[in-house]
Amino acid sequence: MKADKHVPPVTDLDGKKRPLIAIAASFLLVVCISLVAVQGWSIYSARETQLAQSAAATANMARALADHADSTIELVDTILASVVESVQHDGITHYGERLHLHLIDHVSRTPSLQGMYIYDASGNWALHSLREPIPVLNNADREYFVYHKTHKDKLAHVGPPIRSRSTDTWVLPVSRRLEDKDGNFIGVALATVQLSFFRTFYDSFDIGKEGNITIALDSGALVMRRPYVQENIGTSIAKEPMFKQWRATPASRAVPVDLDTLDRMYSYRPLRRYPLFVAVGLSTDETLANWWANAYISTAWVVILLLILMWMGLRLFRQVTLRDELEEQLRNAQLALVTKNRSLKLLARNDGLTGIANRRLFDARLDAEFNRAVRDGTSLALVLLDVDFFKKYNDHYGHPAGDACLQFIGQCIRTGRRRAGNLAARVGGEEFAILLPNTDLYGAIVVAESVRRSIASAGREHQANPAGIVTISCGVHALVPTKGMESKQLVEAADKALYLAKSTGRNRVCPDAPAVSSRRERASILGS
Ligand code: GH3
Ligand code: MG
Ligand code: MG
Repeated sequence: MKADKHVPPVTDLDGKKRPLIAIAASFLLVVCISLVAVQGWSIYSARETQLAQSAAATANMARALADHADSTIELVDTILASVVESVQHDGITHYGERLHLHLIDHVSRTPSLQGMYIYDASGNWALHSLREPIPVLNNADREYFVYHKTHKDKLAHVGPPIRSRSTDTWVLPVSRRLEDKDGNFIGVALATVQLSFFRTFYDSFDIGKEGNITIALDSGALVMRRPYVQENIGTSIAKEPMFKQWRATPASRAVPVDLDTLDRMYSYRPLRRYPLFVAVGLSTDETLANWWANAYISTAWVVILLLILMWMGLRLFRQVTLRDELEEQLRNAQLALVTKNRSLKLLARNDGLTGIANRRLFDARLDAEFNRAVRDGTSLALVLLDVDFFKKYNDHYGHPAGDACLQFIGQCIRTGRRRAGNLAARVGGEEFAILLPNTDLYGAIVVAESVRRSIASAGREHQANPAGIVTISCGVHALVPTKGMESKQLVEAADKALYLAKSTGRNRVCPDAPAVSSRRERASILGS
């Protein structure tokens, strides 16, 4: 069955295909997971980069602002130190209009300087940088005055912001102690820094809407803050988380604050020479606003990409499934075709009623065996069998019973053909043949007689037959064919012998050979 070889086993194909689907699905899964992972990682790293850049920016700004404040106070302090030197050298009572003008000159040339003041040991105003004379005032209650009176420390002292009594503006006092040659307290020299100077400067920075710039004393007294709220100047920020954060970190450098505790990211910077610090805070919401926008857009793209991938994967899966189903159907159709082919071939070779070979196969085998016998020089024998009075059988018992009888005859002939190489065939309506390769006439007569006997001994009723039972007549012939002979010679001779059997009384086996024509010889064969 050559056609069968073209139909690969179903399991083989499945074995090859299933891994492909699994590999494709795994690949798709890996791609999707990778996409999500890469997207997650890039969003995370972009956020970290943004925060790091923001931290660096606030740290740099804090450093710059601290340097600015340091320089501002130092400049004022330097002027103050020179004034102190001059006052102490000339003595508190020997200053005069020259020093007054000197102070006015300093203040007018230094934008950050609001004013300069000299107080005597009782806190009374001894000298100032104001152009107009002022009512006699006493500043013994001020923090800086009390400080210097009680501290022998000669260094500059920066106190909490105060509202100037002369100009009613907020100022940062920078003061030094005045003493005589013996080290006795003789007064205080004060220089005040305008807080508006810091405010103007801080307003020039871009820190967003929610940014924060703070400069405060280490004690927590607020000096200036952006956004500016006048009421807060001089108040304590010691309880603010931002201040606590500053206190908790090393005071030597700028430190970004912990993001989880505050919604602003702060960097701190202490002033190098004075007890103040600067803090710069940027709103994390504002800092991450761009990052959020980019994250939303890129995530949306990734989601769209994932959806497209999944849609394509599903389509691919459906296509593969559809192809599998089609292939399955095709294979089933092929199998059905092969089965149909087989039965058709069987039908083409076998007789539908009796199941033995039909005329077509008989003819083909006859030619093949004839040629082989010619080649091998062997004897080929043929038995033709014909049911006796079968027309009458049909007439008497009906056609279906006739068919059944033919099936019975066919069965008897198949059983009686002896060897597998012998071919039993139905060659006509109620005519049969047995082809016997490599068999001589005697052997063929034996086979024919055996079949005839088996049918007769079955005793199948046939009232229209004088014998009363179903019988057959057989014509037998055998020859050793030579080149030039034709197979029809064998058939014709067997047919002649059959005619002989019919004409000599039926229910018998007749050979068509002069060699066995003598009664005696035939009797000996038939009797054996
Ligand atoms: P004889 O003894 O001389 O052979 O007489 P006979 O009646 O058998 O011979 P004849 O050739 O006159 O009749 C053959 C009959 O076989 C005719 C036909 O009705 C019957 N026949 C042929 N083929 C079939 C068949 O397939 N089924 C049935 N039931 N009958 C068939
Ligand atoms: Mg006939
Ligand atoms: Mg007949």
